[in-house]
Amino acid sequence: MSTQTKATEKSTEKKHVSMYEAVLARFNTAAKLYNLPEDIAAMLVTPQKQVKVSLPVMMDNGKIQVFEGYRIVHSTHLGPSKGGIRYAPDVNDDEVKALAAWMTYKCAVAGLPYGGAKGGITCNPRNMSVGELERMTRAYTSAMSEVFGPNKDIPAPDMGTGKREMAWIVDEYSKIRREYLPGVVTGKPITLGGSRGREAATGRGVMIHTIEAMKKIGIDRKKASAAVQGFGNVGLNAAKLLSSKGIRIVAISDHTGAFYNEKGFDIDTAVKYAQKNNNVLQGFTGGDLISNEQLLTLDVDALIPAAIQNQINEENAHKIQAKLIVEGANGPTEFGADHILNEKGITVVPDILANSGGVTVSYFEWVQNQYGHYWKEEEVNAKHDFAMETAFEQVWFNSKQYKTSLRIGAYITAFKRLEKAIRYRGAY
Ligand code: NAD
Repeated sequence: MSTQTKATEKSTEKKHVSMYEAVLARFNTAAKLYNLPEDIAAMLVTPQKQVKVSLPVMMDNGKIQVFEGYRIVHSTHLGPSKGGIRYAPDVNDDEVKALAAWMTYKCAVAGLPYGGAKGGITCNPRNMSVGELERMTRAYTSAMSEVFGPNKDIPAPDMGTGKREMAWIVDEYSKIRREYLPGVVTGKPITLGGSRGREAATGRGVMIHTIEAMKKIGIDRKKASAAVQGFGNVGLNAAKLLSSKGIRIVAISDHTGAFYNEKGFDIDTAVKYAQKNNNVLQGFTGGDLISNEQLLTLDVDALIPAAIQNQINEENAHKIQAKLIVEGANGPTEFGADHILNEKGITVVPDILANSGGVTVSYFEWVQNQYGHYWKEEEVNAKHDFAMETAFEQVWFNSKQYKTSLRIGAYITAFKRLEKAIRYRGAY
């Protein structure tokens, strides 16, 4: 029995499939439609490298705590592997594997010369001191120093990590290698070789894809409303940029609560409030408190899930009223919800396209590090916007050509590039 058949059977017998099974189920749907040769498919269903390490860290209370760290390289067929590092309590190998595979498809869809990888540490960064986080990040970098490399595997921020952690990684890695190697990681502070425009890039990409999709499906953005779930790097920047383009942001949220304001939020006020309030919206008075479930099912033009995975599922998908969903987060829609959204005629810009602005500007950062020459923010943004508009058009074209959803169209876009690269490179 082929790997494709096995995974499809699994996905139908269980109601809640694991994240990696969800990747395989979508992969199989796209592979069947595109007629992806079995040998190429076999090279893409299993990650190339899976590393799990234990990280003993001296905590502030003087006791050693052992954390589990992961780095999974899914593919290097198009170039060095690229993907973020996540710090969260529920990080596990299935999740990291799924995120690594999505990075392969995301980089291919965006036309980048990169493969895909992902890393993570099972921890709760909100309950750790800066010193504990620094020691844990340095221990992880040291343990992964043979995996990482500017021409091998290049990490970046993800949930729970940002430029501070990237600075520790570049410092630790450079110490180990005894030379300064800023290209080992992206999402760095600008003074350490970071790129202008990187911090807001994922949100900026979400903004471009929302606008492109609105044009295609006939929503006038000047009259449009949107609900944004998550107020971290992706959600906050997406809300800010969408609002700057005239889209009314009627709902925002984070893990502490969701807020509704029919007239639309002044995002800068919400950002200032969160900044003063330990980076959370708790207690914000700019709107009415609503539930997370209410936010997801509001009567809005666009819904932007930009927080965590599996938010849209078989239980709530039929209640969604938005005409357009733009997946700022990775995996916010469970596999089982895809067909419900399709039947309802909701356009879904999938994660592997919608949030590819971040890795695109990460690529620009890496290019600038290799050159040792740095671009202005306008230059970065112009290159980013062009790359995103091009990727959107290609996915739209493939979804029409194969008469399928944008999600499956995005996988097909990736297959076209990966198949060529694998054939050119050959095998033993
Ligand atoms: P972040 O840690 O900066 O922010 C996450 C946000 O989600 C926070 O506001 C948090 O409060 C909120 N949140 C957590 N649980 C929630 C819940 N149950 N309900 C509502 N809000 C909740 O993370 P981020 O970097 O913005 O990443 C968000 C998503 O985007 C993740 O899926 C990540 O993989 C994906 N992503 C991030 C980037 C990037 O460049 N940072 C790039 C591509 C994809």
